[in-house]
Amino acid sequence: MANTRTVTVINGDGIGPEVMAATIRVLEALKVPLEFEHKDAGAEVVAKYGTNLPHETVEAVLRSGVALKGPTGTVVGGGLPSANVGLRKRLDLYSSLRPVKSVQNVKTRYENVDLVVVRENTESLYAGLEHIIVPGVVESLKIITEKASTRIARFGFEYARKHGRKKVTGVHKANIMKLSDGLFLDCCRKVGREYPEIHYEEVIVDNLCMQLVKDPTRFDVMVLENLYGDIVSDLCAGLVGGLGMVPGANIGERTAVFEAVHGTAPDIAGKGIANPTALMMSAVMMLDYLDMREEARRMEGALHKVYGEGKIRTGDLGGSATTREFTDALIAAL
Ligand code: NAD
Repeated sequence: MANTRTVTVINGDGIGPEVMAATIRVLEALKVPLEFEHKDAGAEVVAKYGTNLPHETVEAVLRSGVALKGPTGTVVGGGLPSANVGLRKRLDLYSSLRPVKSVQNVKTRYENVDLVVVRENTESLYAGLEHIIVPGVVESLKIITEKASTRIARFGFEYARKHGRKKVTGVHKANIMKLSDGLFLDCCRKVGREYPEIHYEEVIVDNLCMQLVKDPTRFDVMVLENLYGDIVSDLCAGLVGGLGMVPGANIGERTAVFEAVHGTAPDIAGKGIANPTALMMSAVMMLDYLDMREEARRMEGALHKVYGEGKIRTGDLGGSATTREFTDALIAAL
């Protein structure tokens, strides 16, 4: 097919291969003009390559420009650096994008949640620049630059414009970190002036958390520096049923990696009972990114139909369906 796009597929560890196989079955049933090139990354391939992020995998994503990725395991404290962080750095995936939307019939405390978390991915305290000054005293550096802040602000406003969103909220703690968060806010304000049709507001991060749990429908697109974004994006996932229900993408100038935000779930790996929803929703985001909008809507519609009917559910949501049964129901609903 003339317009066939190549997507690099990284299965990852634990339940990764199971949720990936399910997602690819759906994409194939949709007959999207995509070709899948499988590449390795994660804890389970270290013995083979001596690294959790083989050079050829990074090269493949650079070539294809788009990857669909399962979760990869990371050892806590010590061991190799995370393959995810490695991918983000090597591909300069400066923006983490997490749309958070209520799904019909998935019971949570809130209804009609429809938020987008846009998180800066490359700097702030999250960069892990720490050192011991003298025993008992550790310094951790928070780096905020005009370049990265402007870039993420522009990403947020562009996303809002492209998706018909009405409001962007700049999130900060500039009342305390006047210079660093002050610079971040200045950049958001400057970029915001170029988007007069989008309302721009600013909220202090602790107040944001309180407001989100009181009434999440008050927010639309939120732009945050790295550490606040990390925390707030998981809080937002909790509003709609947890990490198993939200998609994610890490996006740079030329490449994008779409992945579920949950981990490798070692406790259920290999049992065929993982919920593939999050990776499937990430695949919907990927189809939108590739301008395959009709297919994206069909896949999204099928997910909402299966949840709307409320019959087929995996164990994490109180049901008894296997990954295969869930996927069969989804394909039947396309
Ligand atoms: P986890 O998300 O793997 O598991 C937390 C709980 O949620 C477990 O009980 C698990 O069974 C359940 N769960 C997660 N995804 C599920 C799914 N799709 N269907 C059904 N149940 C699901 O978190 P963890 O245990 O903290 O992390 C395990 C490993 O995953 C660690 O090595 C961590 O570093 C890695 N991790 C990777 C990513 C990523 O690659 N993006 C993200 C988070 C964690």
